[in-house]
Amino acid sequence: MQNKNRNQQGYKIKKRSLTTWLSIGFLSLQCGQLYASDNLPDLGSPDLVEYDLQTEQSLGRAFTQALHTQFDLVQDPEILNYIRQLSYHIASNSGNKRDFSFYVINNDSINAFAGPNGVIGIHTGLIAKVDKADELASVIAHEIAHVTQQHLSRTYEYNSTQGSLNSFATLIAAILVGMVDPNAGMATLMGGMGMNMQDQLKNSREHEKEADNVGIQIMYEAGYDPHAMGAFFGKLAKESQFNALQVPEILRTHPVTLSRLTAAENRAQVMPPLKIRKQPNDLTLIKLRVAALDKKLDQVDQRQLTSDERCYLDNLNQLTAKLSQNKFKKSADKLQCLQQAAQKDLLQPLYSTLLIERLQQFADRHYQPALDKYLAKARNLIEYQQDIWPTNLAVRVRHAELLEMQNESEKAQLRLQDGLQQEHNHYQINNYLAQFARRHHQEATANYYQAQAQVAIGNYARAKHFIEQAEILNKQNQEGISQKINYFKAKHEDKLRKPSKPD
Ligand SMILES: [Zn+2]
Repeated sequence: MQNKNRNQQGYKIKKRSLTTWLSIGFLSLQCGQLYASDNLPDLGSPDLVEYDLQTEQSLGRAFTQALHTQFDLVQDPEILNYIRQLSYHIASNSGNKRDFSFYVINNDSINAFAGPNGVIGIHTGLIAKVDKADELASVIAHEIAHVTQQHLSRTYEYNSTQGSLNSFATLIAAILVGMVDPNAGMATLMGGMGMNMQDQLKNSREHEKEADNVGIQIMYEAGYDPHAMGAFFGKLAKESQFNALQVPEILRTHPVTLSRLTAAENRAQVMPPLKIRKQPNDLTLIKLRVAALDKKLDQVDQRQLTSDERCYLDNLNQLTAKLSQNKFKKSADKLQCLQQAAQKDLLQPLYSTLLIERLQQFADRHYQPALDKYLAKARNLIEYQQDIWPTNLAVRVRHAELLEMQNESEKAQLRLQDGLQQEHNHYQINNYLAQFARRHHQEATANYYQAQAQVAIGNYARAKHFIEQAEILNKQNQEGISQKINYFKAKHEDKLRKPSKPD
């Protein structure tokens, strides 16, 4: 999301209005109701599509802003890091050089969606449901395929030739209502557009088929088991057979038919065995974090867990539990197994990042014995892992937390700032830097980083607000960042002048 100026192939420049684009982005979210029809139209090949890259980026920004204001986005660095590393790895095998951004939405329905400009959302409900990383990879690859096949722009092309145009105001209303209640949003949209429902149905169904086919190929290239796609959807369909009231959201948008399952399985069958088998071993721990987020740790079946994983769950429980001082002291005993698990598998950083989270808890309550016993050990572990996993967001953030606990604030700040050299997670890292500045009573600096965070998600209206605040506070408090502020203003001059409106 930080690298929007890459050249992309296959675009012919032709002006389109933002209005129409908004409708497409909206449909991508709400396509749940639009299925079950035959007579598929010929949609043409993706490279025949004409649309304006700039307009798509504007729409992507509007969509991203809506995500950040209307949705409960997961900011947990461990979960985000897991999903983003998995997703970018799959995307890098799509043979498509375009930009993607991946978000995790805290929503327990089993679903994922693709929006404009490569923005992809994954629900926590989906993460909780999968048993293997391959299953998760199959859904993410399917959504990536919607993007690489330019399904939104093709839907747009189709709509525009059918003359279904509509007012800007109607669409904005539909989007905002739709974020809260998809059905209400759809009604508003349909009312405003007079859109031909049948045409939409045909379009979407063909796109789903294509996303399956292309997605299976992409996940295979990325080293994931292509059989997982058919197997996962089959499993969901079988489960929902017995509970018609609880059909997973993803089955509403991706209806499972026998022919669809057979097609997916047939495709997987003809693929030669995987050469490099990717074996990420951290899905179980990530699922525990998702359960903690949903306050469902007590529902986890512990019989399925190894003793290290049970230790992880135990310590996650302690993080959220309200403990009396006495129990709190006792809970320090649970750090032992966490430290041992971290030591056992040095390539698995999730144990040491949780150890640091726990130590933060003891630092907050000024319980020194736990810190004396484990801080130095945790530091050894995390420094080692920072070297091995320089792009891991969780390792970076927890490392900085640990440095701050040891009163090495300057180093902590540098750790975070180094993260800005990488392409992803700018929004999160700038927010951490803002929080850091606030803890050290540097209000101007905090506002400056908040402005940077807003730029990272394309919200220039808010960026403008924060940089103006930073300027005022910097004059009052003498934080010495006027050069930084001026550079920021010069760099984003155009966009700050006319925030979030396309030309
Ligand atoms: Zn789909």
